[in-house]
Amino acid sequence: MKKSMRECFCALCSTPRKLRYSRHLSSLHYFQILILTVSFMALTFSWLGWRGFMSLPMIWVLFEGIHKSLYRKDLKCPFCGFDPTWYKKDVKLAREKVEEFLRQNPGGPKFKKV
Ligand SMILES: [Zn+2]
Repeated sequence: MKKSMRECFCALCSTPRKLRYSRHLSSLHYFQILILTVSFMALTFSWLGWRGFMSLPMIWVLFEGIHKSLYRKDLKCPFCGFDPTWYKKDVKLAREKVEEFLRQNPGGPKFKKV
């Protein structure tokens, strides 16, 4: 099965990129969450009864957390180290992270000093 990829450009070095993960969960993920919840409920029905359905929010949060971390890891540019999520939070910190990345990877793109 071919993974769906979103094509974009890095905002800093303008290198073409392909993102594997989207920002939100897909309908397939929600289906997996439902299947996992029903399976968990079936396995623990003799012990927890219908309260096993309360595993739904925990499984959902787990899926969201894993998906968000994969998305954020995917979003960071592998060529210049630019991370848009850091840029949105703190521009100076994002700049420091890019400079640190470029110091550790000297073969990366060159930028003019402003
Ligand atoms: Zn870049």
